Amino acid sequence: MIYLDNASTTKINDEVLSTYETLLKTYFGNSSGNHKMAREVNRLQDKARTEILKSFNYTNGNVIFTTGATEANNLALIGLFLQYKNRGNEIIISAFEHPSIRKVVDYLAAFHGAIIKEVPLLGNGELDLAFFEKALSSKTVLVSIMAVNNEIGTITNITAIRKLLKLYPKLIFHSDVTQAVGKVTLDYELLDAFSFSAHKIHGLKGSGALIIRDKLVLTPLMYGGAQEGGFRPGTSNSPTNIVLAKTVRLAFINQLKHFQAVEKVAYQLYTLLEKESSHFIINSKLTNPYIINFSLINFRASVLLNGLDNADIMIGTTSSCSAKIDEPSMSVMALTNSVELATNALRISFSHENTINEVNELMRTMLNIIKGKIHE
Ligand code: PMP
Repeated sequence: MIYLDNASTTKINDEVLSTYETLLKTYFGNSSGNHKMAREVNRLQDKARTEILKSFNYTNGNVIFTTGATEANNLALIGLFLQYKNRGNEIIISAFEHPSIRKVVDYLAAFHGAIIKEVPLLGNGELDLAFFEKALSSKTVLVSIMAVNNEIGTITNITAIRKLLKLYPKLIFHSDVTQAVGKVTLDYELLDAFSFSAHKIHGLKGSGALIIRDKLVLTPLMYGGAQEGGFRPGTSNSPTNIVLAKTVRLAFINQLKHFQAVEKVAYQLYTLLEKESSHFIINSKLTNPYIINFSLINFRASVLLNGLDNADIMIGTTSSCSAKIDEPSMSVMALTNSVELATNALRISFSHENTINEVNELMRTMLNIIKGKIHE
């Protein structure tokens, strides 16, 4: 089996798993309770918040534990918009946001009077910052632009965006950093709020957080107990939340080492794809080696995907959350303006455990399928 779908989810880290097991068995008390074990669980959970903020080098922040980036994105956008819409009703997003941002702003537009402006991509896959600057106005309450795109891997220039926001001190800048954490360098201090999932960095599924400046207030999406400052009620999933600190810490500690390992395998794939330029067009850049996206020339992505699946090679179409096979990739569409290329795009996403041999095997199998030597 060759697993090359790490942007979708990753294998759990052994150390994270064993800590989680211990926490589940030993610290099962309800963190909101009034006894010794409850207090200890609560203490460990708050310690985890502090450690997470430290790992991100983020000051004056709150950690709100969630079930992952989808929930964190919903909470950030709906919670902040409803809380601060008196400042203005315009929201700016990019053309390549994940559905957990895109569909949320559609909801805010349909039911809460939000006006959405979408920043297009330039031909090189980067955000059109001139368009962004013009889209900003005194009515903009919220900007949400992802740090690393999950389909093509483009790294957003967060510093440049923050500079453009200087004239708008009250505007709130949120970023979905799910594909950036522990992978590419990012100054999280530039953000007012950010969302991520643990399972993209070898942590638990159903775990993540919204990190937000402590001066900001959210209108909750759910009502109930006072957990998570009342912003996210319900009995805390404390073992999961506590082990998130370790997951994040390990991701940052290993960032450089893992980046260098991934760079080697990505370079190999890049070189092989370039060599076979009559079959493949590369949509991504090597600046982020974790995600390589390419389109097939005159060949259906769904056919190749099935063929690879039969050969026990697991890759992704675009984003698991939007992926119905044969649906055009939003990001490749924004990048290439071609339905054909966007429909036949595939995504390889690496972890530090992938090897050059696996990449060679992938390429051999892809060519065999394309050339009809292997049938579905
Ligand atoms: N944002 C991005 C950029 C993602 O890649 C994903 C996962 N596909 C999500 C949000 C959603 O994460 P989750 O499914 O863990 O909520």
